[in-house]
Amino acid sequence: MAMWLGIISVLPELIDAARSGGVFARALEAGSLQLQTFNPRDFAKDKHRTIDDRPYGGGAGMVMMTAPLVSALEAARAAAPDTPKVVLMDPQGEVFQQATAVQESQTGSLIIVCGRYEGLDQRFVDHYVDERWSIGDYVLSGGELAALVVCDAIARHIPGTLGNSLSIIDESHLDGTLDYPHYTRPVDTAEGSVPDVLLSGDHQRIFEYRRREALQRTFHQRPDMLIRRVFSDADRKLLTACFAASKEQQNTTKKQ
Ligand code: SAM
Repeated sequence: MAMWLGIISVLPELIDAARSGGVFARALEAGSLQLQTFNPRDFAKDKHRTIDDRPYGGGAGMVMMTAPLVSALEAARAAAPDTPKVVLMDPQGEVFQQATAVQESQTGSLIIVCGRYEGLDQRFVDHYVDERWSIGDYVLSGGELAALVVCDAIARHIPGTLGNSLSIIDESHLDGTLDYPHYTRPVDTAEGSVPDVLLSGDHQRIFEYRRREALQRTFHQRPDMLIRRVFSDADRKLLTACFAASKEQQNTTKKQ
């Protein structure tokens, strides 16, 4: 089943850039994904097509007005194949995670609202927004790039989007660890050789090597991801070895 994405944005040309290439464009071409944009400016009532105004109480910047946003949302809801959730891209929202990407890829549709300026009139947020998603603790000038980030992450999980559906199975974050290192032809380059185990044809050894590398990377680069997780006995053994090796390294450095 195709997934339908409706994006509310005053800069739809930024969103449309995603149609030009890559996995996202292929998903659109293949029909596994449908993308429609709705510009609040098209619903503004005055001849200047105004969509923002100064904030009550004073202060810097402009605020997106409720009425054009509501009309754009009504148009999006009317175009949607079912009753989508409404998500606002928002630096104050919950940080978007891989698990959310997988979960959303299994829903039929989603409406994403992109803010601009100082943000949206709070009354729109309170009345119409179901969830707020952030892509990280920094502030962008608008929600469009953030929306594309989450749409790309979601699209990868829609069946039929990636040529080889197996390619997402081992990806970083999917099972709470980082991805293992990848190598391709040729075997030897000026920068080094491919690890022997990957040339062995022994699937069990290759699996164990990759699992060890994934756990080691996660241990060194993102130890926070390992907290409060339950591990298999084999994983626990590998992590204990990582921890011991890292302790030994620290002791050696101290002695030097
Ligand atoms: N005044 C807002 C604040 O301090 O929370 C920031 C507004 S920002 C300049 C304009 C719009 O960009 C936001 O309404 C949101 O849609 C989008 N945006 C900015 N940073 C974002 C982030 N980290 N994640 C998701 N959306 C973001």
